[in-house]
Order: sequence, then structure tokens, then C-alpha cells
Amino acid sequence: MREDGLGINYTLHKIVSFREFITKMAKNQNVKTDSYQRRRILLEEMEELNQALVNCSSCTGKCCTFRGNSMQITPLETYDLYFYLQNSGQWNEDLMNRLQANISEFRLDQRPSTGAGHLMRKTYTCPFFLFKSHGCPLPPDKKPYGCLAFNPFEKGVKDGEACRSRLDSLQRREREEENETNKRLKEELNLIWEKEPIPVALLDFHRAVLALKLHI
Ligand code: SF4
Ligand code: SF4
Repeated sequence: MREDGLGINYTLHKIVSFREFITKMAKNQNVKTDSYQRRRILLEEMEELNQALVNCSSCTGKCCTFRGNSMQITPLETYDLYFYLQNSGQWNEDLMNRLQANISEFRLDQRPSTGAGHLMRKTYTCPFFLFKSHGCPLPPDKKPYGCLAFNPFEKGVKDGEACRSRLDSLQRREREEENETNKRLKEELNLIWEKEPIPVALLDFHRAVLALKLHI
């Protein structure tokens, strides 16, 4: 057993097995397809709405700002987004500073406990949001499930006035093996959370990967 500078205990065996695990996932040709498959139901329903001209094109993007956004993501959703950012060369100091500034601005690191290990859910403007004309820059197969499930239900929505989350679709999307993968990611990376706001989840995932001295 060793302890690194961040005070995280790990065994060499654990590092090796997790490195294999994560390398397989990160390099697997099917990862992209897999992240798409896990979102397929939500993406197909969005496309159906879009075919009927029910979309976000005339909206301010309220659901991505502090007026409507409190998105929290699981370790597996964080994995999808983190490795997309790493593999596309977007994970750098500037982005990490932006994520940290976002956490400070919306005090996402100061959330009181609501009991049973849960923290209060807070609203924040998503650090990836590019505002009205550009919207969300993330590829659909890497976006949080909750973002994909939140849709307008009328044409010409201007400020989120006819939007809601498709909870039934989110339920249909849930998969048993995903719980196992989340559990494995939590255990191997020593994560202590089930879900966190996007910037908190990404920075903690990065710290955890570095703590295990993984070279991706
Ligand atoms: S990830 Fe994209 S869709 Fe989700 S809150 Fe951020 S900008 Fe909006
Ligand atoms: S139309 Fe609704 S779902 Fe689309 S950007 Fe506006 S608030 Fe968000």
C-alpha cells in the first residue's frame, strides 16, 4: 500500500488493473458507439421533435443558465465527457481554470448537506454554454443524459416557456450494467459521489485519474 501526495491510498495492483480497465475503455473502438447507444433513446426522441420543427433554435438557452440549469452527472457520464475533452485536445489549463471559476462563481463547492450523504442541488450557468447563438458545443453522444431529455414541446419556444424533462425516457434509458460500471469507476477512482455538477465532476475525475498516475 502506498500513499500519494493527495493522501489517496492505493495498491500497485489496483493501479495496473484500473489502468488496463480505463485504457481498454478509452481506446476501445466501440466507446463512441457505446456512449451513443447509452443515449440512443433520448437522441431519437429529440430527432423526432426536430423533424416536427420543435427545437431550441429560437430560444435563449435558459435551461443551460443559472435560471434553469442544475445538471448533475454520474461517474460514467463524466467519463464520457472527460475522455472526449482529453482525446479532442480540449482538456487544458484554460478549461480547468474555467471550470474552477464556474465552481467559485456559483459556489458549487459550498453546498449544505440535505442528509443521507446528499448535498443541496444548486443552479449554475453551464461552463460549456456558448449563449443563444451558439448553444451547447458538446457532441450529442457525450452530453449529460438530463440535458438530452430536457426538450421543448411546442414550436418557437423563446425562453423555455414550454419545456420539460422527459422523465419516462430517462427511466427507459437506464440500464443495469451501467450501475455496475458506475460502481466500478467509483471504487477504482476513489470517488465519493453518485452525481455532481458538471464542473465539479470533471475536475474531481481529473484529480482522481492523476492520483492513480494514469497515463492516457
Ligand atoms: S452540457 Fe450543453 S446542454 Fe447541458 S447544460 Fe451544458 S451547455 Fe447546456
Ligand atoms: S427551448 Fe427549452 S430545452 Fe431548448 S434551449 Fe430553450 S429552455 Fe432549453
